[in-house]
Formats: sequence, C-alpha cells, structure tokens
Amino acid sequence: MIKTDYLIVGSGLYGSVLAERIANVLKKKVTIIEKRNHIGGNCYSEIDKKTGIEYHKYGTHIFHTSNETVWNYLSKFCELNSYRHQVLSKYKNKIYQLPINLETINSFFNKNFNPKEAHTFLERKTKKFKKKEYNNFEEKALSQIGKELYEAFIKGYTKKQWDKDPSKLPSTIFNRLPLRFNYNEDYFNNCKYQGIPEKGYTEIFKKLLNNKNITIHTNKKFYLNNNYKVKYSTIYTGPLDKLFNYKFGKLEWRSLRFKKEVFKTDDHQGTSVINFPEKKYQYTRIHEPRHLHDNRNYSKAKTLTIKEYPDSNFKEPYYPINTNLNRDMHRKYKTLVKNKKNFEIGGRLADYAYYDMDMTISAALKKFDLLKKIN
Ligand code: FAD
Repeated sequence: MIKTDYLIVGSGLYGSVLAERIANVLKKKVTIIEKRNHIGGNCYSEIDKKTGIEYHKYGTHIFHTSNETVWNYLSKFCELNSYRHQVLSKYKNKIYQLPINLETINSFFNKNFNPKEAHTFLERKTKKFKKKEYNNFEEKALSQIGKELYEAFIKGYTKKQWDKDPSKLPSTIFNRLPLRFNYNEDYFNNCKYQGIPEKGYTEIFKKLLNNKNITIHTNKKFYLNNNYKVKYSTIYTGPLDKLFNYKFGKLEWRSLRFKKEVFKTDDHQGTSVINFPEKKYQYTRIHEPRHLHDNRNYSKAKTLTIKEYPDSNFKEPYYPINTNLNRDMHRKYKTLVKNKKNFEIGGRLADYAYYDMDMTISAALKKFDLLKKIN
C-alpha cells in the first residue's frame, strides 16, 4: 500500500509544479501516479528515432507569457531559445501570413495598402455584418474580417478543428484570433517571454521532479477506491467524469491524431507550422519541429514533419467543447469533489478548460499557496 504526505494524480505541468513546491518548500513526501509511461503530460517532448529531431508528442508547444511570477518560477528550471512563433496558411496553393495582418490583406486582395487604407477597406467589407451582439463564431468573424478572408482562412479550418459549423460555435472562440493592420507576424508579440526550452520540455519535468521527497509511479491509473494512505491531500489532475464513473454522463472533448513523415532533405517547408484551411486536406496543420530549435546542429540528411488531424477520440482529450450542456455537467461533477475530504483538483482536464502553459503554472502556484495555509 502507498503511504505518503501528498498524493498527486498526473505528472503534467500542474501536478509537477505542485509536487516540486511541496517537496522543496514544505519538505513533505509526494507520490505521483501517472497512467502514461512517461512524465510531462501533454508538454512531453522526445527525440524522433529516425531523424534525431526533438518533437512534442501531443502537439507543438510554444511557451509564451508576460506573467512575471510564472516566468520567475519557470526560469529556475529552463532557458528559452530565441524562437518566435510565426504561423503561415496555405490557400489555393499560395502562402499567407497569420494572424491576418497587412501583408495578408495586401497579398490576398493584390493591393498595396498602408495601415489606414487597409483599415478603411476592411471596414467597408465588414459594415453589413456589424451588430450589437454576435450570436456565434461566424457572425463575429464576418464582422471583423469580412466574407473573403473568413472563407479563405477561418471557415474551413474551424469546421475541421471542431467538426461543427462555425455558426454553431460560440462567438468567444473568435476572440482568440488577433487581427493586425501592420506587418508584424510575431504570433505572440504581446508576450514579454517567448520561446522553446533550450533542452526541450521533458528536461524541465526531470528537473522539477528531481527531489528525494518525490516518488513517481508511471503506468499506474488512479481510481477513487484505491487504497492509499494520504496524510494531507490528494490532488487529482485527470478528468472528473472518468473519476466518478460517468455518473452524470461523458464530457465531450475534441481530440487530435498525428502522422509523422520523414523526408530526405534538410528543410521541407521552411517554417515550424503551416495551416491548411481548405476542405480538400483532412489535416489542419503540418509541423516541422526542426525549426523550433534552429540553433541545434540537426543532421541535414533528413527532416521530420507531423500532420495534425482533428479527431473525436474521447480517450485522448485535447480541447474541451464549451457547450452549455458540458459546462453544466462539469459543474455537477465539481459538487461531488466538494464533498470529498482532503481532495483537491486542478489542471486543464479536471477544470475542463483550455489553459496555456503559463496559466497552468500560475494556477498550480496559487493552489500551492492554498495548501500551505490549510495543512
Ligand atoms: P496534462 O498535461 O494533460 O497532464 C495531466 C496528466 O494526468 C496526464 O499526464 C495524464 O496522463 C494524467 N492522468 C489523467 N488521469 C489519470 C488517472 N486517472 N491516473 C493517473 N494519471 C492520470 N500551451 C501553451 O502555452 N503553448 C502552446 O503552444 C500550447 N500548445 C498546445 C497544443 C495542444 C494541441 C494542446 C492540447 C494544448 C496546448 N497547450 C499549449 C496547453 C498545454 O498543453 C497545457 O497548459 C498543459 O499541458 C496543462 O497541463 P496539465 O497538467 O493541466 O494537464
């Protein structure tokens, strides 16, 4: 039987940051249970055996934040390289910049506008779609970028990504997509800190968890009826519906699958990611992870690409599907958690939320402050 001060279920960013804080600051024993065969959750990175190129197994992850508390914490465990994220989109066999900026507008409409002219031009195109309130994603998108840009870059991509017509998705999803009237193509230009950890993500987790107070069990699933002796708290970072045996039903998630390919060239597409919004492609993006580490001395003989396909596989949850039905169901599960003594939850799966990495770290640090007070 496992005896411990704190039990943490899940070795993703949320669980690992908490484990590090508890072991280092409180000097208590932490046991981590992880159902996968590796630590790191969805941030996990590994070396591709055929090419020697490091890639992110669960989708390309770019670290970006302006949160000083998060950066002060994370920078103890890694250095970031100088990677700046740029996204390109291939439409009708031509490459355009995303987020939509002055270059995209000029190139797409074959114009040579300055920022003011582009603004006026788009205002004319969007005028008829302006409303006081937007009821769905499509209405909001049309009101911001007009019909042509929406249909080229957003509509097909969104439909593939969510397997739902954009007119059935909440307008709030469009808020995540910036629109610029200058030539800035730095995707996260509003973030003070940005890059890829020099030594990859998995190295960060190894450092976080390298403490004699921390014991890790991989390939081990947690169930509520497990017989563990936990002195202070159990912190669960998995999905709540599974934990409570789907008592109120299954929470819906959008999933992804990935297809790796190796090409005998030193550079297949010239950048780390290209979007493919058109229906004729089943995938949404092609990643080429060698570009995440341009300063590494990777072999020039081969390169790795990864095609990303949206999927509806509930076993690998990626993006919560934020409908009223799912949110209500999640609320019901949370009431069951409240009734459990010394049982805490957190992270993207348990909270049924999309968190960027900096948000996850911030949430884990806040939970630690709370645990410090109650135990
Ligand atoms: P996870 O990483 O999912 O960790 C949870 C762990 O719990 C998993 O390892 C799981 O196996 C384990 N677990 C679950 N249930 C059990 C159980 N019953 N027993 C044992 N173990 C269990 N963020 C950014 O900032 N930049 C990006 O570019 C970015 N890209 C992303 C791309 C994709 C495709 C996705 C889906 C997310 C991306 N994110 C990005 C977000 C980032 O992945 C999350 O912020 C982070 O992984 C959340 O960590 P977590 O610990 O909450 O969850």
